[in-house]
Amino acid sequence: MMTLNNGNGKAQLRIKINLKLHQLTSLLFLLLVCVLAFGPTSPYSLSLRPYLTFILLFSFVGLVVKESLYNRQLLARYFWLIDLLDVATASFIYYLGFFSVNYLIVLYFFLIFLSIREFISGETCYVTLLSLVGYGINAALLWPNYRLLAHVYGPGPAVYGFFIGTGFFCLVLVGVFTYFYAKSDYELARHLQQMLAEKEAALKETYLTQASLEEKYAFSYTLTLIQQFLLEEMDETNLLTRITDIIQGIVGSYSCAIFSHDKDNAIRLSTYSGKQLPPDLPEFVQRPDSLVAQTIKSQAIHTEESASFAERNYWAEHNISSLITVPLSTKNNILGVILVTSAQSFSFDQEQQEQLMIIANQVSLALENTRLHKETKLMAWHDSLTGLYNRNYLNIFLSIVEDSTSNRLGCMIFDLDLFKVVNDTYGHTTGDVVLKKLALVLTKHTTTGRIAVRYGGEEFVMLDLHSSAEKLYALGEQIRKEVAALKYWTTAGEEFSITVSCGIALDNTGFDNVFAKADTALYQAKNQGRNQVVVYSSGSNQTKTPG
Ligand code: GH3
Ligand code: MG
Ligand code: MG
Repeated sequence: MMTLNNGNGKAQLRIKINLKLHQLTSLLFLLLVCVLAFGPTSPYSLSLRPYLTFILLFSFVGLVVKESLYNRQLLARYFWLIDLLDVATASFIYYLGFFSVNYLIVLYFFLIFLSIREFISGETCYVTLLSLVGYGINAALLWPNYRLLAHVYGPGPAVYGFFIGTGFFCLVLVGVFTYFYAKSDYELARHLQQMLAEKEAALKETYLTQASLEEKYAFSYTLTLIQQFLLEEMDETNLLTRITDIIQGIVGSYSCAIFSHDKDNAIRLSTYSGKQLPPDLPEFVQRPDSLVAQTIKSQAIHTEESASFAERNYWAEHNISSLITVPLSTKNNILGVILVTSAQSFSFDQEQQEQLMIIANQVSLALENTRLHKETKLMAWHDSLTGLYNRNYLNIFLSIVEDSTSNRLGCMIFDLDLFKVVNDTYGHTTGDVVLKKLALVLTKHTTTGRIAVRYGGEEFVMLDLHSSAEKLYALGEQIRKEVAALKYWTTAGEEFSITVSCGIALDNTGFDNVFAKADTALYQAKNQGRNQVVVYSSGSNQTKTPG
């Protein structure tokens, strides 16, 4: 597993530079001490040799220990502490060797601290500075005793000054070289680190893209299921109820409601799911500034941010902190609004808003589809003039009913008496009014198991599944009387009325047979002078012969 820790990388780099510097200066120092102490022209007295050997050994062991610590990546965070201990010990050793007491340790501590806090960039600066300051302090403190050190520096302050100056110069030179060495090293490392960071960022981006793709895939799969369901569901109420459930599932909301918007501009609560809605919500949304009303007006998504002060209070009282309203609309109409609420603040992020919009578009299409389906069904099964069922529906009704053959089917045929005369005398429009009024009378007497059908021009059929011949006769009489009692007025203001004849038959031999019998009975009613109800009996067959 990769870790992204630039701070750690920097610390490693700093320690590495520190180590290299330390190694370089220590080796130079060791070389100098070797030459001075053990060279053929050594200025030191022999008594100092054990001490100098100790310094050599100490420095050498220090180098080896640091190198191994670094290689094992131990104490990475506390490397500065090792440095500090090293310097402290070295200072103490200088002290033992009768060099002047130096204050390097305090300065060193301070500079290391600054370096750790990254106030000073790069180690070279502080090591060089430190060495110069330490060297300066030593030189100043040793100044009064230069005569005692004549065997080291040679006689006279000028020679002493020359050695001090050369020392300063060498230190600066070492500092500058090391600085450039460290700088190129540092820059390379930084470049590598930057590359690594870029790679990691790209990788992270890939992870994110993958995650968001997976999420999008999950949503599109859900959407496919929704579409499938929407295509199959033709009942508007079922459709909307299921959709509120689905939305609840997708956005994990508190509640989800759908309001329908009708042509008369009324907003009605169609369905909801989730937690109980405020009981007065249907009235509340009628306010012109309510989010639902705003959404209908603008046909755009709204959140609690565009809610009025009153509405925010209203929802807060019901523990709702955020809400979103999404329009259900097609090109031409606004069909309704989906309202989703949540108890948490700022619940609906951009992505969820987009998802809701996509679902809303699908639902709108499906809603329009079910309405069209309903209208088509209405047109296919109903007569456009009277609104009664037509023969298409009669066939469907029969195909269902006749599956259970034991059903006794009652058939009543109504035919207006001398209707042609009405048409001829008062015109077709008046004739249509008569047909509509008759249809209203028939509709009034339909119940479960009894339907009224406009069978032909002015012929109407009532089918009954449950009655007896007596009851049907009584019904026929009732309808006949009601029709006869109706009054019509012509465009000229003339009053007239019209009667109806009715033939009835009832048995279980199937529609075609029972219809033929009812037709025979109707024929008889017409023959016997119209405005009457005749129930078919096998004897009435004879009356069919015109005479
Ligand atoms: P009968 O008492 O024997 O039934 O006499 P009738 O005049 O009612 O019978 P007929 O079959 O001769 O006339 C039926 C008339 O119904 C003829 C037709 O113009 C009229 N008709 C059929 N469909 C419609 C309609 O949709 N609107 C109007 N106004 N008249 C229609
Ligand atoms: Mg007729
Ligand atoms: Mg007629």
